[in-house]
Amino acid sequence: MRVTWTGGDLSFRLDAEDEITGRASDEHPVKLAINSCTIGGVPEDAHPDLFAVAAWTVVAPWTRRRVLFDRAISAEVAAALHDGWGVEAGPVGAEPRRPGPTLGISYSGGADSVAAATIFPESPFLHFRRVPHRRIPNRWPHYRSDVLAKLAAKTGREVTTVTSDLEYTLAEPRPGYPEHHAVAAGALLLADQLGLGGLGFGYEMGSRWLGGGRYLHRYTPDNPMWSPHGKWGRLFAAAGVHLVLPVGGVSEATTMRLALNSDLREQVRWCLRGTDGPCRDCGKCLYKELIQAAVERRPLNTPVTADRPFARKWLRKPPYGGQEMIEYGLARVPGIENTLFGPALDFFEATEESTSWLDHCYPPAIEEIPEAWRAQATAFMTENVGMMTEAETRRVENWGN
Ligand SMILES: [Zn+2]
Repeated sequence: MRVTWTGGDLSFRLDAEDEITGRASDEHPVKLAINSCTIGGVPEDAHPDLFAVAAWTVVAPWTRRRVLFDRAISAEVAAALHDGWGVEAGPVGAEPRRPGPTLGISYSGGADSVAAATIFPESPFLHFRRVPHRRIPNRWPHYRSDVLAKLAAKTGREVTTVTSDLEYTLAEPRPGYPEHHAVAAGALLLADQLGLGGLGFGYEMGSRWLGGGRYLHRYTPDNPMWSPHGKWGRLFAAAGVHLVLPVGGVSEATTMRLALNSDLREQVRWCLRGTDGPCRDCGKCLYKELIQAAVERRPLNTPVTADRPFARKWLRKPPYGGQEMIEYGLARVPGIENTLFGPALDFFEATEESTSWLDHCYPPAIEEIPEAWRAQATAFMTENVGMMTEAETRRVENWGN
């Protein structure tokens, strides 16, 4: 793989051994659509390691044995690429980048990232905004990326919006991030300018520790994507931008509660299909409505009926990603037996007691926050959430058994 940057324009050329269908770090197969993309709103003079790691978040799935950058990288970043992916990376010759003092927040507008932001009220936001690729037709006409950018601007925080078409480098399964970390490509290039030493993401306990989302359904202390000692954590750290998960120890029910109780409540937006607020009629809105109803202790309020294909996803036999939140909702939403979630009760024996661990913070998640920001996260969790008991901690560590 050969990588070239011209300002914020990234182009890359596959070597003979590279393949156009590769695998992301979560094992998902991804097919290349086009070998160029642009990141807007970034400086041209960032540390070479930042350009290298930003490029790697895009090209990693398709690279087999080596990656040649257009400027020398540090031995530390080359070593992290070799240890994590088994690739030879070069040329080597730059001094490593030292972490800056600032924790930035990768801000998506969803409840998880709002909760992360609430823990660090002084942190600047970095917002990734999707824009069309100049050579690929836009297949997402209903997706309002402008809405999120406007909401981010209303938060009162320092917001840096990065525009990018990098998601169009993917042909299959659909346009999207080649690696989950590509959402940070622009933030990496801005790290020198903003003095970043860490970047906070809204990944919660399900994504970090329970193998949720597209990943495996089991306890994942060594999660290769989000643990600090995993390959991505080591690579980001080598470039002086630590991966930080401020809400990595709490469930989506807790991030929902924190976000809705925060002063950013009006800016929380997990669905972009609606023009004025969430659409209420998609799979994500249904799932989030179950969580919100559980948190607010009120009946489910949704127009969705059981015959909709996206609703069936939550009614099948477990295991599946997000299952812990279905159990949580079944145990807490009044009258749930008379809703479309009723049949799911057959699969679980969820009670308030058996799901109470989802209201507390998993202590090892705090311990892995870099020291510079750990005390603030600890104080916040102690005051607003509460730490798990030993029995609750075991619920996390026996997940999937
Ligand atoms: Zn929706």
